[in-house]
Amino acid sequence: MMPQMKKILKGNLLRRTGLGGGYHLLEFTAPGLAGEAGPGQFVMVRAGSTHHPLLSRPFSILWAEGDTLHLLVKAVGEGTRLLTTMGEGEATLVLGPLGAEFPLADGAVLVAGGYGMAPLYFYARRHRCPASLHLFYGARTAQHLLLLDRWRALLPEAHLHFVTEDGSLGEKGLVTAPLERFLKANPAAAGPVLACGPTPMMKASAAIARAADRPCYVSMDEPMACGFGICLGCVVPATAGGYVCSCTKGPVFDAAAIRWEAL
Ligand SMILES: Cc1cc2nc3c(=O)[nH]c(=O)nc-3n(C[C@H](O)[C@H](O)[C@H](O)COP(=O)(O)OP(=O)(O)OC[C@H]3O[C@@H](n4cnc5c(N)ncnc54)[C@H](O)[C@@H]3O)c2cc1C
Repeated sequence: MMPQMKKILKGNLLRRTGLGGGYHLLEFTAPGLAGEAGPGQFVMVRAGSTHHPLLSRPFSILWAEGDTLHLLVKAVGEGTRLLTTMGEGEATLVLGPLGAEFPLADGAVLVAGGYGMAPLYFYARRHRCPASLHLFYGARTAQHLLLLDRWRALLPEAHLHFVTEDGSLGEKGLVTAPLERFLKANPAAAGPVLACGPTPMMKASAAIARAADRPCYVSMDEPMACGFGICLGCVVPATAGGYVCSCTKGPVFDAAAIRWEAL
């Protein structure tokens, strides 16, 4: 297999759109990089041309087209605060595309929580038959369910399952409840479950998929410092024994390869 191509480049912010709930859509110029990216892969990004903060931050690719890279970024700390307050035209450092992709399969069942929606949106956009996919997308409130118009343009309405913890949009509760009902109601279907979101959500999705005899892939969300296997900050416990780097072996893993009880 060819070694994965990685590029470090200085990009420029083309557009920043606030989406509410602390989320922002960022569009960067990333010539060469954007065209090579696949669903599930991520980039390491740092705002501006200074060394503050020293380390870049990892972000899943929401969409990549031509020379443009799209990210969905939630401001949680200093690195994301700087990124989500950048002015248009400002410089960034971008490294990528990095990591493993989700396997493309018809009839896949997508399970998203929070910014975990980003790589699954890329997946649906790149899919040759998005109408065969189902999306289970959960958040705390309606305000945290993002880009619904874009999802509605991609998947049939009946394939969109929105869930909020406070019941402000869609079903009230956790996203794993309708996922479990759906898999039980469709025992003959074989599409994989692809999950990205908080670790407890992915752990539950993996258990539900296993009980339904469906393959399951998860995109792990471990804080990482380098993004290419040097710092060992993002290791996850492996079923085969020991630990694996989620930046180089993942972030997308077969859920059966993760030792969930040790997380
Ligand atoms: C493969 C991958 C893909 C990601 N994709 C996205 C994305 O598409 N959009 C997005 O908004 N964020 C994404 N993240 C998370 C993002 O990298 C962190 O939110 C970011 O690094 C925080 O940097 P900061 O300087 O703002 O916060 P810091 O000051 O570094 O940390 C602020 C708080 O966030 C916590 N934190 C930092 N990183 C993580 C993490 N990975 N998981 C859980 N808690 C964390 C810290 O412990 C601390 O409590 C992704 C992470 C990974 C590993």
